[in-house]
Amino acid sequence: MGRVIVVGAGVIGLSCAVRLLDAGHRVDVLARELPRETTSATAAAIWYPYRASPPERVLAWSRTSYDVFAGLAAERPDSGVVLREGTEVARDRDEKPWWSDAVPDLHETLDVPAGYDGGWAFTAPVVEMPVYLDWLAARVLEAGGSITRLNLHGLPRPGDGGPDAVVDCSGLGAKFLAEDPSVHPVQGQVVLVEQVGLERWWLDGTAEEGPTYVVPRTHDIVIGGTDVEGEWSRTPSRDVAAAILRRALRLVPALAGAEVLGHKVGLRPARTQVRVEKVGDVVHCYGHGGAGVTLSWGCADEVTGLLG
Ligand SMILES: Cc1cc2nc3c(=O)[nH]c(=O)nc-3n(C[C@H](O)[C@H](O)[C@H](O)COP(=O)(O)OP(=O)(O)OC[C@H]3O[C@@H](n4cnc5c(N)ncnc54)[C@H](O)[C@@H]3O)c2cc1C
Repeated sequence: MGRVIVVGAGVIGLSCAVRLLDAGHRVDVLARELPRETTSATAAAIWYPYRASPPERVLAWSRTSYDVFAGLAAERPDSGVVLREGTEVARDRDEKPWWSDAVPDLHETLDVPAGYDGGWAFTAPVVEMPVYLDWLAARVLEAGGSITRLNLHGLPRPGDGGPDAVVDCSGLGAKFLAEDPSVHPVQGQVVLVEQVGLERWWLDGTAEEGPTYVVPRTHDIVIGGTDVEGEWSRTPSRDVAAAILRRALRLVPALAGAEVLGHKVGLRPARTQVRVEKVGDVVHCYGHGGAGVTLSWGCADEVTGLLG
């Protein structure tokens, strides 16, 4: 057991911090952006292994997270995690999704809007990120950890009076902190609208314009989205928002007339493969692309295991 510095206070950094504290380490989280300011706070956030690789590791991490989220939904209503049924519409249902083993109740459905052939219905964890990030941060503090705002120009060095180990959960920041040129942004825009009594989530990954998803939360509905490789801007576009709403309306006609509450843009920290790797006394854990929430608990367990 030792003193660990976790860099990053998004869903990955906080989940790692919780697991490391559970394992008996002393943990201090350092982050330029505090939890509600991170990319993680923008996520929709539905359990779905999207834009993350390699498939075998992603499947294992996703399965672990699914089980943890199901437990939180059952036992910790204050965590902001709920289980919701929903449908991923499809035009070709010959093959089950590659991640279907991680989901207990996936089945074919023909109950889809006009224009689609059918789809896959299943229960997925839906995570209200602002609530959940606050809950994770509170768990870190309650367990004796700390969270401090600090803009780092390099990773802290373990040893020599410093921490015993460093866990690098800096997301897109790893491009600079880990000097990893393969980390890049994939920009995503979402529109928040008022809750209109929607219970199910809907997802359409078939459209050329980008993934379309409608994710109901307690007080609002998150509607996405876009998927722009290499784009660094975090400014929402009015035209893009209008296009997102048009696509969402095809998927969920009940959204017609829903009041728009806000717009958000986040930069997914993408990489050819998610990096969970120990190099000396530094464990890197970044590059979760469009699935950081989905992979979070599986990766946090692996990071904790790597630190012994
Ligand atoms: C529109 C949108 C929708 C999404 N929907 C989903 C979804 O439905 N399901 C899902 O699983 N995922 C979803 N994602 C993806 C998910 O949001 C990301 O994979 C996840 O947030 C990555 O988490 P992270 O903790 O690695 O990074 P971040 O949340 O970006 O956190 C990185 C942390 O590192 C810190 N940091 C970086 N550089 C430095 C530095 N130099 N010094 C100090 N600190 C630093 C930052 O300040 C921050 O605290 C979505 C993303 C977007 C944009």
